[in-house]
Amino acid sequence: MSMQSQFSSTRIVTGAGIAYSVGSEAKAVGMTTVLLLIDPFLAETPAGTAIAAALTAHGLNVVRSTAVEPDPSALTIEALSSWAAQQHIDGIVAVGGGSAIDTAKAVGLLLAHNVPHIAPFYHGGSTTPARMLPLIAIPTTAGTGSEVTFVAVVTEPSTQRKLLIRHPVLTPVVALVDPDLCASMPAALTMATGMDALAHSLECLTSTMSSPMSDTLAITAIRTIVVALPRLIKNGHNPTDRAAMSGAATMAGMAFLSGRLHLGHAVGHALGGAYHVAHGPACVVMMPEIMATVAPARTGAIAQIAGAFGCRAADLPAAIKRFLIDCGAPNLRTLLAPHHPSPTELITLFRGEERLINLSPVVPTDAQWESMIQAAW
Ligand code: NAD
Repeated sequence: MSMQSQFSSTRIVTGAGIAYSVGSEAKAVGMTTVLLLIDPFLAETPAGTAIAAALTAHGLNVVRSTAVEPDPSALTIEALSSWAAQQHIDGIVAVGGGSAIDTAKAVGLLLAHNVPHIAPFYHGGSTTPARMLPLIAIPTTAGTGSEVTFVAVVTEPSTQRKLLIRHPVLTPVVALVDPDLCASMPAALTMATGMDALAHSLECLTSTMSSPMSDTLAITAIRTIVVALPRLIKNGHNPTDRAAMSGAATMAGMAFLSGRLHLGHAVGHALGGAYHVAHGPACVVMMPEIMATVAPARTGAIAQIAGAFGCRAADLPAAIKRFLIDCGAPNLRTLLAPHHPSPTELITLFRGEERLINLSPVVPTDAQWESMIQAAW
């Protein structure tokens, strides 16, 4: 059982329209000049304009940037930080998906330390993060949970690997979880981001670090996702399902902070870094096989998850596979097209994610990896 008890020290405020209270929230945490880091898509929407107006209406100076790219690279983060260092900001408001929020965390870290390079802060690196500028996170996708986690995922251009910065100072002070901001997501993005939340919940329930609290959050998220996600993919305008998915994604984020992740994200990070495929689908692409592999070591968790999927424990891998197909998630071959890596190449990539793999209750042998790859192909 985990010795780590942190779930979130973020103040979470949730509800339709809550994003527009950002001005009073920013004032309340002492911000005066704010970097509004906003995803380029959201920046062009009425919601983006209204969030900027809500900040200026409270007398805050706003410096705006849309320098957010999917799977943010260290180079982009460092360029943004060097520009922001000239703007005398004392807080950041991030509006967007995990990429915007993680960019904000990394920039807030560089500015607070007054250094140009992010690499020393990578998990296991030479510098331990000590501080970050205060961050208000406003998620516009329902998947990563980054609004409550103390993790930032950065793509390192020299190796094309997705690397983690992981330290409690990266925790946002406030998360404004407003499901209305997710309503503009097309079905494919709803699916892709929802899959990330599903992966978080399934992995942390079955990891070696799970605990009663993370289990409770994760199983609640799974029960919600199983019902709401397929409906939302078919009809993105259902506010009840949008609210359910936003809540599930934030709960799954709180759960995996403590319960941690393992093989699904090892696969997801390896494929995302090497082939730039969408994060959520990459994390679940081998999930039926992963659940089958860990089942003997985590029978209680597997039984609980099977209950959420409405099947017997022995049928869980097949039920998850059916769920992925129903939601339109790609299989491994489709996800990687036009690339056609050999199992050996994939296993080598996966093995690079040792830190995540070691949190799995079963560490697959090469033979197990190979048969999992074949089944998922
Ligand atoms: P994203 O932030 O990369 O955004 C994906 C695309 O969706 C972008 O093109 C963006 O413009 C668009 N978009 C965002 N919100 C939209 C909306 N409401 N309507 C229409 N389009 C919208 O996607 P994401 O899945 O939220 O984030 C993925 C990143 O988060 C990855 O880098 C992943 O590794 C990271 N991540 C971080 C954590 C963490 O705890 N920090 C956890 C999981 C994943």
